[in-house]
Amino acid sequence: MPLSLFWLQGGGCSGDSMALLNLEGPNLFAQLEYIGIELLWHPSLSHGTPRQYDELLAALLAGERPLDILCLEGAVIRGPGGTGMYDTHRRRPKKDLIAALAHRARYVVAVGTCASFGGVGGDGDVEATGLQYRKRQKGGFLGADFTSGAGLPVINLPGCPCHPEIVVRMLASLEGHWALPLNEFNSPLQWYGMLVHQGCIRNEYHEYRVEETDFGRRGCLFFHLGCQGPLTHGPCNKLRWNNRNSKTSAGVPCLGCTDPEFPKQHPFFKTRNIAGIPYDLPEGVDRAHYLAYKGMAAAAAPERLLARKTRV
Ligand code: SF4
Ligand code: SF4
Repeated sequence: MPLSLFWLQGGGCSGDSMALLNLEGPNLFAQLEYIGIELLWHPSLSHGTPRQYDELLAALLAGERPLDILCLEGAVIRGPGGTGMYDTHRRRPKKDLIAALAHRARYVVAVGTCASFGGVGGDGDVEATGLQYRKRQKGGFLGADFTSGAGLPVINLPGCPCHPEIVVRMLASLEGHWALPLNEFNSPLQWYGMLVHQGCIRNEYHEYRVEETDFGRRGCLFFHLGCQGPLTHGPCNKLRWNNRNSKTSAGVPCLGCTDPEFPKQHPFFKTRNIAGIPYDLPEGVDRAHYLAYKGMAAAAAPERLLARKTRV
């Protein structure tokens, strides 16, 4: 019997859904059928009438129809003043509907950084929060102790947008009852246990500190152009987008969109420096050793890299 999936939109831009529609070989609907997922409703893709939607919701909330997977895209909006009236469903705060469905579902999945951690609305008066985290702080909307029917916390799949392959592989894992170990922010280590830096085609330039100050060249983007790849957890350079590309392959710095603090309050394309050394160093790296190592590495940079002859 297929697992039922209800997709709900909170405060967001639908970017995760748009990314999901870019799935290739085969497309989203064929993959859901193959995995064994019955899409009960998706706000952009379903074409039932409002009455059918209301009837489905009533049946799910009454427990007359089982709800296996609830996916929330977008943050939970609690403003103004905790009322939730900035985001409503049938004149009632949508946050109440989110809570009711989350308590009915066997699995709850937060798709994207807004649903996971609050994202872009997390600092404003819309009082946005993630389902079980608000930025790095555990709790969020449902509370630190929340578990879904299957006894799991909310599974967070951050990204702005979330990589579509992660979404379908997560759904396949739930259908197959495969245990996926989670990291400290309840994101599967399978995809969030690595850094975007891993697998980047500019790695050799990074090693020897061959860095760019402008776009369109082949060197590393970390030292001047704000690349967050060595600090950001995600598979973007291992599980390439549309099986072809990634930001850093295309010459765009990683913006760190899977991080609980995303978006940060400083310019994306500029590296904050202290005396020429990035303020935020690669994860786990000690500043004193980094200074010594990078100085030596830059001095040892091979000519082919300095001349930007190694293709990326
Ligand atoms: S461009 Fe970014 S991800 Fe690529 S090697 Fe440099 S720091 Fe790492
Ligand atoms: S490269 Fe960085 S900013 Fe781009 S999608 Fe991946 S984690 Fe997000």
